[in-house]
Amino acid sequence: MASTRPQLSSETANHYSTRMVAAFRYGSLSIACIGLIQAVVFALIGSWLVVVMELAVFVAGLAIYVLIRRGHLAFGVLAGQAALIVIAIVMGLLLDVPTSKAPRISHIYLLVVAALGYLNYQRAKSRTQLALIGLCLLSFIVLASEPLTSPFVEMPDVARTIGTWANAFMATAMLAACVHAMQAEFTRKDRYSGDLMAALWRSEFQLVYQPQVDISQRIIGAEALLRWNSPKRGSVSPVEFIPQAEKLGLMVAIGGWVLERGCYTLAEWGKTSHFQRLTLSINVSASQLLHEDFESFVRDTLVKTRADPQRLILELTESVLVTDIELVIAKLNTLREMGITIALDDFGTGYSSLSYLRRLPIQQIKIDRSFVQDAVNSSDSASLLKNIVLMSRDLGRTVLAEGVESMEQHNLLAQFGCIEFQGYLYGKPMALADFEQRSVKVEAKGLA
Ligand code: C2E
Ligand code: CA
Ligand code: CA
Repeated sequence: MASTRPQLSSETANHYSTRMVAAFRYGSLSIACIGLIQAVVFALIGSWLVVVMELAVFVAGLAIYVLIRRGHLAFGVLAGQAALIVIAIVMGLLLDVPTSKAPRISHIYLLVVAALGYLNYQRAKSRTQLALIGLCLLSFIVLASEPLTSPFVEMPDVARTIGTWANAFMATAMLAACVHAMQAEFTRKDRYSGDLMAALWRSEFQLVYQPQVDISQRIIGAEALLRWNSPKRGSVSPVEFIPQAEKLGLMVAIGGWVLERGCYTLAEWGKTSHFQRLTLSINVSASQLLHEDFESFVRDTLVKTRADPQRLILELTESVLVTDIELVIAKLNTLREMGITIALDDFGTGYSSLSYLRRLPIQQIKIDRSFVQDAVNSSDSASLLKNIVLMSRDLGRTVLAEGVESMEQHNLLAQFGCIEFQGYLYGKPMALADFEQRSVKVEAKGLA
């Protein structure tokens, strides 16, 4: 099923800095240039086997460059490394064996490829990347230690001596550039983490409110969504900073702030007849829910803010279900006893199994927007959507459809029996004052 989550550029999504992407791009272009120049030089000398190898280097470098430009950075870097390793091994075993006049040199590039691999591994840890780094280092050790002989050596000694100097110089420069890029990337990550940690006490977080409506499009509540207004980076999407905050163990503190802020809003709404009936949905991450003090924190926050628990909805994603399910059920039951409603967010995208759904004390199911957006174009998706609504209703859960962007989607969902909706059609996430103004306006219109 096509996902319609807000797409970040591939660089941001993968936590690559723009500088890092540029480094990979220029690195691959440099490799292509080195291959081309050496191919020309060896063509003039007449060492045709070497020309073939150098042309392979040129093609590999160019292919990585094109892949990165087209946004396939992860694949480009892995495939490029694999190609360069094969070329370096073939070159080192057959054409570039040590003689009394010149040592072997091409294997030195394996260290550059390993360094590039390590940089990539820092971004996305994968077994393939680890295996490629291991292969690079192993081949380097073998080629550096084992002289071997080959019947294919056809380069004149002068060319090999000059080539040794030139290649040693270029590989060292590239290695230095890699170390510099690594250092810059680590500093950037440190700075990002530091800024994220400081954001809480610098009050750089903000909640925005997205309307939730009933079948007649009357506002029944809102979902509170987090924003980081960083002075350096502008408004940072939660999709980008929440995973980093989770890694740094900050999500419990940030989520605590969200809950407290949301409960203060709810308490304020409780004082006005216009807003009294509104509910507020708050997202809770798995790490937050699983924290041992979560339930007592929620209880204390409700007491402190005087928010009405009957108006509070806590949204959980299916990722909590992969952990200790009995513990999750116990925690949710405690929250239920306080009068809080529990919603299952992004339904259908994760691990949901019907048996879990039956056992979990969940009152609301939020159908992920990918289902909603596919439904108008595909009859299979439409019937899937219809069945999810029916099944949820049979299990006694209310169903809220997310990501509704058109009247066509709204009507289809209503026809299937859905009664609660959220999406750009009814309003994008907005500042609290705008949300309040809008809900008053909508109500006035409804009463007129
Ligand atoms: P979510 O809980 O599924 O929130 C809905 C996301 O969909 C929001 O993105 C919202 O702006 C977007 N959206 C709403 N209607 C539409 C629509 O009609 N079309 C499209 N294309 N998108 C729509 P946002 O605000 O960027 O939040 C992204 C995710 O970040 C949230 O997904 C939630 O998982 C997480 N998040 C946001 N705030 C918090 C928070 O306070 N705590 C935790 N733990 N997670 C949060
Ligand atoms: Ca949500
Ligand atoms: Ca959602």
